[in-house]
Amino acid sequence: MANVLVFAEVRGGELRKVALEALVAARQLAAASGGGAVHAVLAGAPGVGAHAAALANGGADQVLLLEHDGFAQYNPEALTATLAERLRFGSYGYALFSATAQGRDLSPRVAARLRTGLAPDLTGFRVEGDAVVGEHFTMNGKVVATLALTGSPALLSVRPAAFQPAADPRPLATEAITSAADPMASRVKVIALRQGNTGALDLNDAPVIIAGGRGLKAPENFRLCEELAAAFGNAAVGATRAVTDEGWRPHSDQIGQTGRNVSPTLYVAIGISGAIQHLAGMRTSKTIVAINKDKDAPIFKVADYGITGDAFEVVPALIEAVKQAKAQG
Ligand SMILES: Cc1cc2nc3c(=O)[nH]c(=O)nc-3n(C[C@H](O)[C@H](O)[C@H](O)COP(=O)(O)OP(=O)(O)OC[C@H]3O[C@@H](n4cnc5c(N)ncnc54)[C@H](O)[C@@H]3O)c2cc1C
Repeated sequence: MANVLVFAEVRGGELRKVALEALVAARQLAAASGGGAVHAVLAGAPGVGAHAAALANGGADQVLLLEHDGFAQYNPEALTATLAERLRFGSYGYALFSATAQGRDLSPRVAARLRTGLAPDLTGFRVEGDAVVGEHFTMNGKVVATLALTGSPALLSVRPAAFQPAADPRPLATEAITSAADPMASRVKVIALRQGNTGALDLNDAPVIIAGGRGLKAPENFRLCEELAAAFGNAAVGATRAVTDEGWRPHSDQIGQTGRNVSPTLYVAIGISGAIQHLAGMRTSKTIVAINKDKDAPIFKVADYGITGDAFEVVPALIEAVKQAKAQG
């Protein structure tokens, strides 16, 4: 039996969906290792504790509440010290992070502080005896590496959207904790956060992504992606590097090896050839729909549904079809 410590990610004062995904993974870990408790660390400015109920509803047995003005923004040094101290002196077999910008920064810091191992960016795992055996996409997503992590505590991070948030309500139990290092004295200070991608939904939070490529010919034609995203209502717009390099879309919209890793329920690729570097960031999407006028485009090799045709004819028809389907409920 091993307890699991989860870092529940907050950004701009809001609890991120990835925090609830990490809780689902944590519950699976706790169950697989004989039924330990799941503790979630919730850090932020005073008032962040309002999110504790959502964490309890998502499966946290206890919410460790770290409220301080020094945590109003992501504070890597004080968080590293606090999580490392908890893991060193608590009875935790595992610590779980999200493989987001914050989690990718924080988890190796904590692992280094504890001189323990980290299995990053997992899309699934199982427990075999003393080891966690996790799956991790590598080589641009062409190879699934199997990582066996031993030692305690074992640190893992899970890829956004690899686990779906689920209600698993527990009685709300919170414990106020203090930072192991003065959060105001950190040498690294996040001064401000600027919303990068242009849509309302973050690419990692959106269940649907409409991604456009050079086949859209000009920046103004991305209105087709925007309109299709609006028709779905729960979609974000992404792009290829060809597009962001041209300056048609901001770099924060770029999906792929040198951009964002996404795993939405539905990924619609419009006028995208399917270069290996693009596939590296989206091939774990649950359902992939590709629209391309070239029937031999490599994107069709990973697509579940393919439409060979001109995006300027297909996408307006698709927008109408989605609107109609939505209207019919
Ligand atoms: C080190 C390195 C890192 C990279 N990292 C990334 C990355 O992170 N993300 C990424 O995306 N790329 C990355 N790239 C670039 C990548 O190799 C490709 O160049 C890029 O993905 C191509 O983008 P695209 O599909 O938009 O453009 P293109 O390859 O030019 O494809 C355009 C597609 O649109 C289709 N098309 C044209 N007109 C229409 C139409 N009217 N209707 C429908 N379809 C149409 C064409 O048939 C074609 O398949 C990287 C490259 C390198 C070397």
